[in-house]
Amino acid sequence: MIDTGRHQVLIDTGAGQLGPDTGKLPGNLRAAGFAPDGIDTVVLTHGHPDHIGGNTDERGRIGFPKARFVMGEDEWNFWNGELTGLHGDEQLKKLLRQAARRNLPPIRDQLDLIDREREIVPGISAIPAPGHTPGHMAISVASGGEHLLCLGDAMLHPIHVEEPDWHALTDFSPEKTIASRYKLLTFAMDLNARVFGFHFPFPGLGRIVRTPERWRWQPL
Ligand SMILES: [Zn+2]
Repeated sequence: MIDTGRHQVLIDTGAGQLGPDTGKLPGNLRAAGFAPDGIDTVVLTHGHPDHIGGNTDERGRIGFPKARFVMGEDEWNFWNGELTGLHGDEQLKKLLRQAARRNLPPIRDQLDLIDREREIVPGISAIPAPGHTPGHMAISVASGGEHLLCLGDAMLHPIHVEEPDWHALTDFSPEKTIASRYKLLTFAMDLNARVFGFHFPFPGLGRIVRTPERWRWQPL
């Protein structure tokens, strides 16, 4: 959740109804002082269930009714298409398919698709980083001369900073995932950015440092 002063921007909507312990985002937002209908921009890094699950509530209503939903065009087209090339067993594929069917078509009228690096609101930009999914995006945040890079799921664990060539079962295209990681690691180093990884150990914030042999994750 990013409050720029002019915009209230949410990056991804959590897992929603995915499991027995998920779906706490709306309550946590309220506890932090943000009403879901005050959020004007929702950025979706990619279409996996734990990132789009809060687009709708348990009754199918849109969780952020006044927001513009920003998503990569390739990502939208993939999850609203035939879903050929998905990895994993049938159970996982079914889960992915159902979450996309439930959480993406309802936002159609609030959708803003992007197909290149672009500023979403002043200071917050989408950085295409395909591979984990076909149209996956990372997000860059700039404020007061400092930068934060939200990796999305381009890296799922700090080990991917040290071993960028190791890909995960859920990475749609290993080759593109790896290329995106090198791009993001270089981006973070060049800007001395704080880096945020959704699936990194809480709170998921750190910096990338470079040793002669490799990159390293330095938690904050
Ligand atoms: Zn993912």
